[in-house]
Formats: sequence, C-alpha cells, structure tokens
Amino acid sequence: MRLFRPVSVTLVAAVLLVACDADGPITSPSAPDQSRHSTLASEDPGGPSEAEPDRSTETHPDEDTEERPVSEASADPNSIHVLVNKRNPLDPLDYAPSDLVTPEVALHGPQEAMQLRAEPAEALEELFAAADQEGHSLSMISGYRSYDYQVQVYDQHVAANGHEAADRISARPGHSEHQTGLAVDIDTPNAAETTLNQAFGDTPEGQWVAENSHEFGFIIRYPQGAEEITGFSYEPWHLRYVGRETARDVVERDLTLEQYWDQPPAPDYLDSEGG
Ligand SMILES: [Zn+2]
Repeated sequence: MRLFRPVSVTLVAAVLLVACDADGPITSPSAPDQSRHSTLASEDPGGPSEAEPDRSTETHPDEDTEERPVSEASADPNSIHVLVNKRNPLDPLDYAPSDLVTPEVALHGPQEAMQLRAEPAEALEELFAAADQEGHSLSMISGYRSYDYQVQVYDQHVAANGHEAADRISARPGHSEHQTGLAVDIDTPNAAETTLNQAFGDTPEGQWVAENSHEFGFIIRYPQGAEEITGFSYEPWHLRYVGRETARDVVERDLTLEQYWDQPPAPDYLDSEGG
C-alpha cells in the first residue's frame, strides 16, 4: 500500500504554477476537455486496508482496544480516501477520473459541472431520495470540475478580487476536491437565497443533510470553526464522499478529515505563509 506523504517535491513545483481552486458562485466557462483519460494505474482501487494485526501470544490487550480510524489518507487520486487540500494537490495536477456519470437528481447549475464518479453519484441519488421522503427538497449545484474548468473559475475570482481574496473562497486548480469527482455542492429550491451561503446550514434541508449525509457516505468537509485546519471557511453545502464506514466514524468522532487521518493542518498554500 502506498502511504500518504504530506509534503512532496511535486507540491513545491505545483505551487510555483499560478493556477488555482474552491467554491463560490460559478459562471459558465467553456466546456472542459472531456476527452482526456486518466492513465493512472490504480494501486489501491478499494482504498487502504489495515495491516493484519499480530495475533501472537505477545499481544497486549491495551493495544487491541486502541481506537483507530477505519481508513487512512491515500495519495492515490482514484481512491475514495484521497486527501486533497491546500497542502496536498492531486498527483498528477491535471488528474481526471475515468468513471464519471451524471446523477439522476435535480440539477441547478452549469451542465459541464454535473458529473460525479459512479460510487458517489449513486450515493447522492440515495441521499436525495431519503431527504425527499422526509419532505426536504435538494438539488445539485456542482460536482466534478476538471483542471481546465477550475483554472477558469479561479481566474475569474482573481480578476474580480485579487489572489488573496480568491484563495479564501476558491481552490487553485489541482487543489480542489471537486477535481476528484468525490465532492458535490448542493442547495435547496425551498431557500434559493441560501445557495452557496452559510445560511444553508440553518435551513431544515441543511440541518437534515448535516444529521444524515454520513449514512450515505458523505461528510460536510469544511465544518464550522475549522478554517485553520481545512483551509476553508464553513461550507454546509460542500459534501465529500468517503464511503459509509469512514463517514460514520468521522462524524461520531466529530473531526475534520485532516484530523481523522492524522494529517497536518492545511490552512494555506505554502507560498502564502506569512502573507
Ligand atoms: Zn464545493
């Protein structure tokens, strides 16, 4: 198994590129190149697995009861446990998933950003169906964004507000969870004014999502008060798929993904330190 390395040589090269990513209102840049196929060999299609514990007679009971995360961070972009943040770009930077589909849910945004990888797409359909049964109407705003698409999103933020402001709300290309095909932004037609707004978290729909999305494998990736760890302010609309088992465990322990996987905080890009 390839273990996750927090800081790599490629990261240094990556931050030298003035390119970059996050959420925030999206206009509709030209359609991204969908013809590119990932040539990555997936070493770890099913996610990391725990090493077989030593069952010899030397086993210490205390060690066996020690609480461990059910998954580990992965550097493999094809793993549902890949960690992507301001300190950990995708490798390669222009990674693209090969199993993108459009979930059969209500859509509210640019067509070219309405895909997810197959597994989270199915989970999102189940999440929305369960919400609907409880009387909560949800729609999908944005899923997979290609590297090229994120270049346009980020550049629009930079042009409008400058680099510093852009970095607070928009991830740089290659550093966006949306590029993994595992992240999705949602809203509710019942409170259109809360779209991509923290007030979404106070709506009945936002509260239902916060209480139930882990049962479908999603976590609220950027929780309130965790900006110094995740690098982004509270985004109750941004869900990240990590699988049911991990999502339940993360929520039960009330941790960010960085904390859960015992990875360093990623408050800012390395080239932004002290600035
Ligand atoms: Zn998002």
